[in-house]
Amino acid sequence: MGTAGRGSRGSRQLPALTAAERAAVRTPEQACAEGEGDEGLCRFLSAPRAPRPLEMKALFLGPRGENAPRLEALLVRALRDNAAWRRAFHPGDLPVVSDEDAASAGFTRFWEGFEEELFALLEELKADVPFHSPRYLGHFLGDTALPALAASIATLLYNPNNVSWEVSPITTLLEVEVARELAAMVGFGRGAEELARTWGHVTSGGTVANIEALWAAKAARYLPLAVRAAALESGLSGLPVRPGGPPVGSATSWELAGLPLAAALDLEERYVRAFVEACPDMAPAEAAGRAAARLRAHDVLTLGDQAFAASLGEGDRLGPPVLVASQTMHYSWKKAAGLAGLGSASIWPVPVDRRFRLDAAALRARLRQAAAERRPVLMAVAVCGTTEEGAVDPVHEVVRLREELRAEGLDFFLHCDAAYGGYLAACFRDERLGLRPIEAMRADYGGWPEAEVYDAFAALSEVDSLTVDPHKLGFVPYPAGAVVFRDGRCRELLSQEAPYVFDAEEPGRSQGPSIGRYILEGSKPGSAAAAVCLAHRVIPLDERGYGALLGRLVGLARTFEARLGEVARRLEGRFVVAPIASPDTNVVDYLVNAAGNDRLDVMNRLALSLYAQLSIAPQEPLNARRFLVSHTALTSEAYAPEVVRPLLEERAGVRGAYYVGTDELCELRRASAATGHDDRVVVLRSAMMSPFALEPARGDRTYLDFFFDDLATFLEGGRVSSEA
Ligand SMILES: *Cc1c(COP(=O)(O)O)cnc(C)c1O
Repeated sequence: MGTAGRGSRGSRQLPALTAAERAAVRTPEQACAEGEGDEGLCRFLSAPRAPRPLEMKALFLGPRGENAPRLEALLVRALRDNAAWRRAFHPGDLPVVSDEDAASAGFTRFWEGFEEELFALLEELKADVPFHSPRYLGHFLGDTALPALAASIATLLYNPNNVSWEVSPITTLLEVEVARELAAMVGFGRGAEELARTWGHVTSGGTVANIEALWAAKAARYLPLAVRAAALESGLSGLPVRPGGPPVGSATSWELAGLPLAAALDLEERYVRAFVEACPDMAPAEAAGRAAARLRAHDVLTLGDQAFAASLGEGDRLGPPVLVASQTMHYSWKKAAGLAGLGSASIWPVPVDRRFRLDAAALRARLRQAAAERRPVLMAVAVCGTTEEGAVDPVHEVVRLREELRAEGLDFFLHCDAAYGGYLAACFRDERLGLRPIEAMRADYGGWPEAEVYDAFAALSEVDSLTVDPHKLGFVPYPAGAVVFRDGRCRELLSQEAPYVFDAEEPGRSQGPSIGRYILEGSKPGSAAAAVCLAHRVIPLDERGYGALLGRLVGLARTFEARLGEVARRLEGRFVVAPIASPDTNVVDYLVNAAGNDRLDVMNRLALSLYAQLSIAPQEPLNARRFLVSHTALTSEAYAPEVVRPLLEERAGVRGAYYVGTDELCELRRASAATGHDDRVVVLRSAMMSPFALEPARGDRTYLDFFFDDLATFLEGGRVSSEA
């Protein structure tokens, strides 16, 4: 959220909340206005806010713990501050732990044991993965941003539980705030009022966010059918499907299941209103509650899939629902489909093109097929930053396709799984959250992004829901994912209480926003919301903050790609080294081969032996490895030969149809006819997560200089010493 926008919205600390939401707690601003706030905080709030440039070197603890003394000072203050807060709650209460207690033998022994165990644990953790180092070039895991880390640790001392406002009055507000900030970053709404119509919250991660989005999408798809049943039961069969449209009582299940999300949610609202109007003798709140309860009784989440399907009339049945998703989808979608009752077999994967981006034409064919089979499409998933390749699906084309098919009565809930790539949206936003021109971005980020990537991010504002993980490119400690819905009414679909309680407020007692009843999870850490919140306050979600950090990382990926080209030239005639595609984000996947080798199985063995030299060896000390990368496999189960074979031929020099399906491979092996075939392509994968990869590591040679030397040495069969 831009610093500029803050003051103008009335609250410096919670700019994305509405006045009503802020009224639920006494904000620091109010307390200060009444002369009762903490002195330091009031001074901070009333001082003009100077622009604070993002200083990359101040942002992390550092590869050598360079910023440890500064973090130590902050954490000690945070701990003392928490203790002072404890004392200030009824200062006259007597201490429980007296000096004599603390001097007792039992007390001392307890603390000694505790200390020993703690430091033994820390010794064990020394074998952990050194994500903090620019030598770690593997998964999207890096050093955490200090504001997030400090806020997380400091808030743990309070241990708020964001399941309910009652046990997290502050961090619940922070959670609503950060979700709105993420909504604003992707263009879901501008200004507090528009943003208040979105809904989002922090989750334990992208998996839970995806599951929740599918849960809501399923409820939304069948909502009009539940409204039809409730309306018929209530003598409201004349309720029009759309204003001025045909009555709901005469609409078919297929027509109703094809309504756009907003139309479905509008229909629900009009049903409740019609119900209230038809009961003039009942108090409106009570009538609305009755209407909601009746609707709930017909809902798919209440009835379960079988009873719901059975409730539809003969001749008006629907086929089983499907989920259509980019082939490169994360495996959490399989979990989600199983949980949502579709079964993972009802996921229709859509092939990707040679850039590993969803093929929109193939998607159209899949959607048409679903329509022909009368199978409702619960959701279409586009991925922004695929887990394996960092590829960005053409969200703009999927949005266009939705328009096109809507005209044919086929609609789908569009979700963008931006668990990994979502924060890159900050690169696209200026400090007023306007979309930056592509030329300005390319000038800043080493030529990134390509037009397709730009259009995809610009179209995020049109999707129905979005997963974005602060614990990935937000550099926030685990657990911190998020799900955001563009139409905030979606949360009512999942609500465990009657939604239409017009008179919720008990007189004289303000009611805070509640999260727990609308979400999948129960008890959850308020410290996660606080961590995300402080990260956003210090690192704005636009070109000045996350945009600058992540822009550097995508620029590094382009440098990495160029350096791969240099190594390839150095090794020409002996080895092949090449990226599988130009990176859409900050991940580079690359393949290696021996020059002239045509056999895919041999090529894969070479990649695995290289990986073995660039990954943690459990039996050896951590620093036996100078660099760490990750690897993945393009498997025939997920990637079509039309995508992979040309790639192998052009980039790795593997001619012939050696890339085959698993069944075919088994057959070939059984007949002893496998002459180099495999059902996968092993590729190495490096995510650029450290902004310091081009800093000198020794002398004037950078981390990347050393890395590419090692890569060449290993390929030529040489060894490197663990020093230098
Ligand atoms: C990481 C990832 C997920 C899962 O997120 P978790 O936080 O690990 O649960 C989902 N989708 C994509 C695209 C991802 O990269």
